[in-house]
Amino acid sequence: MLTKFRGLTHREALVFRGTKRWAEFSPFIEYSDQEASNWLAAALSFANQDLPQLHRTSIGVNATLPAVSPEEVDGVLSNFGDFSTVKIKVAERGQPLLDDVLRVLKVAESYPNCKIRLDANGNLTPEQALELLAQIPLDRLDYFEQPCASLAELVELRKTLKHLGLDVLIAADESIRKASDPLEVARLGAADIVMLKVQPLGGIERSLEIAKQAGLPAVVSSALETSIGLAQGAYLAAALPELDYDCGLGTLSLMESDITANPLRPVAGRITPVEVEPDAALLEKYQASPERTVWWLARLGRCYDLLES
Ligand SMILES: [Mg+2]
Repeated sequence: MLTKFRGLTHREALVFRGTKRWAEFSPFIEYSDQEASNWLAAALSFANQDLPQLHRTSIGVNATLPAVSPEEVDGVLSNFGDFSTVKIKVAERGQPLLDDVLRVLKVAESYPNCKIRLDANGNLTPEQALELLAQIPLDRLDYFEQPCASLAELVELRKTLKHLGLDVLIAADESIRKASDPLEVARLGAADIVMLKVQPLGGIERSLEIAKQAGLPAVVSSALETSIGLAQGAYLAAALPELDYDCGLGTLSLMESDITANPLRPVAGRITPVEVEPDAALLEKYQASPERTVWWLARLGRCYDLLES
């Protein structure tokens, strides 16, 4: 990683070729085998199945800003090239709310034509979320992603916003991809938008089904994959019948490198879904240590067994 993101300085991924194309299996290290097995289901389906029907050939993508200081904002965002939406991480553990406010204000000032999204990864109470919203320019806000962790808090926050006459849209991310029932968000009225992450949700078909059943606008976001995993997200975004928002698929710009000679980097703020092949020299350069390789292969085996059982 170029900048520490979600506590990570390095990203690990397992890539393999199936009968149709290359695919990526890259659940975060701390995830349980049960959770990681969804990611394997996604990788196996992408590697071995036909692509869905596509409704568009290019996808608008947003820039993503980690919870950095205002002085670091321009440096990080300069890696993204052109963009018209910035997603800003807020509520990082250990940081005061004022840091978030200053980061958002810096982006608002430096990029006057950009829409702003916030993502709190569920780390705020409804009161804290309102406190943050009270200090930033709401006319610039695209939506607020997962401000609170529980569905009850999200419902409460949406009610309060409505009561105050504030037109703020709430997007659900963890409430979709970590829930035993991803559709409860829609049933309870806990969000206006659903985030789709193709690996945690178990693949393109399942993600499309969740979006359809939720009946809410969807946004596709990456899980900090290499271009091989990003390609699967890009195909999902291209396969959605409706897509009204920029997608979080420009995350290669947070990374030092990639494992392909043709990375899925945005051009003029857009990416095109293509099948990605790894580059032998880059694979060798970024090859995991023997210990990590053994760990990943063992995890792969355990997750495969869970899918079979
Ligand atoms: Mg998120």
